Amino acid sequence: MNMNKQQHKPCPNCGQELEFSALSGQLFCQHCQQNFAISGLDENVEIIEKDYQKQLAELGVGAEQDERIVAHCANCGAEILLPENTVADRCSYCDSPIVASEKSQRVIRPAGLIPFKINQQQAGFFFNQWLKSRWFLPGAIHQEAKTRAFQGVYLPYWTYDCRTLSEYTGQRGEYYYVTVHYTVRVNGRTQTRSRSERRTRWYPAAGIVQNRFNDLLVAGNNSYPQELQNALTPWYLTDLKPYHPDFIRGFQEQSYSTSLETGFAEAKIQMLPSIEAAIRSDIGGDVQRIGNMDIDYREIRFKLILLPLWASTFHFHAKAYPFLVNAQTGEVQGKRPWSAAKITMLILSLLLLIAALLYFFLKDSSTPFLQ
Ligand SMILES: [Zn+2]
Ligand SMILES: [Zn+2]
Repeated sequence: MNMNKQQHKPCPNCGQELEFSALSGQLFCQHCQQNFAISGLDENVEIIEKDYQKQLAELGVGAEQDERIVAHCANCGAEILLPENTVADRCSYCDSPIVASEKSQRVIRPAGLIPFKINQQQAGFFFNQWLKSRWFLPGAIHQEAKTRAFQGVYLPYWTYDCRTLSEYTGQRGEYYYVTVHYTVRVNGRTQTRSRSERRTRWYPAAGIVQNRFNDLLVAGNNSYPQELQNALTPWYLTDLKPYHPDFIRGFQEQSYSTSLETGFAEAKIQMLPSIEAAIRSDIGGDVQRIGNMDIDYREIRFKLILLPLWASTFHFHAKAYPFLVNAQTGEVQGKRPWSAAKITMLILSLLLLIAALLYFFLKDSSTPFLQ
């Protein structure tokens, strides 16, 4: 396919640039309000997970630099400098879709993506629902939230599969009970009593456990606060489609800046709790201590995918509050302001209530020391 043809996809009726519609799952003309099928999409193409070690060897040692792409708007002809680490966006002059992903300098290209399922209007609805369920939100927020602009973004994520062999040494603890005698003084006389106490006897333990991991997700860049991005789960990867530029049209596509290797280091942290749980269950007993762990990572495979989300920020009292909406499930994650006035009011009313209760309680009781 010709590079220009991919970037330029005019409506057959009116010539306006088509964009992907989350509602129809097809291309859509805003002007004619008509859908057009995505051509040349083979849904049966397998999204291949590549060998990690082989890819690392091919990449060499050079760290990937941030990338800037100059793209040409097929609609108005403007030359657009895309934001850092962005390979598709909307034209800043005419708002038409620009897909320049072929110009990306990144060695690894996304193998698949989850197409947008939730459009901007629905994202706004989910965001408002989320706002309504927050406590102690300043009242002015609700007004401000109605006029917000959302940006539809495909964010890069690494997925990792791997098998681990973990050799460990540790200790197995077994409980036993002993009877302990002790003395108390009752009415000036010493009495001997006894109670049962739990003790732990430790035995050395060692062994090897195996774990398997599939599709551990690691964010491919730091465009948004990581705690928000990580909380947008779950993602249903069964919806993954092979990469096709038509899915991107009208949205921003960001490239990765977290390297394949750094991403895997993050995946290792995700694996740790499962590995430790396997070791503890292998040690057995009532309680376990893990001494040394030697983890061998084998058969590591990866792929790069794009996940859809709506991103926005609202400003309140000169502070920015970013929030994200998972464009597959509608899940919302965001930072939020707290209303100092509302919290103060609540504390004051609670104090008032306590004071009132105390007053009535003390007034009615004829406690002698008060008189
Ligand atoms: Zn049209
Ligand atoms: Zn333009």
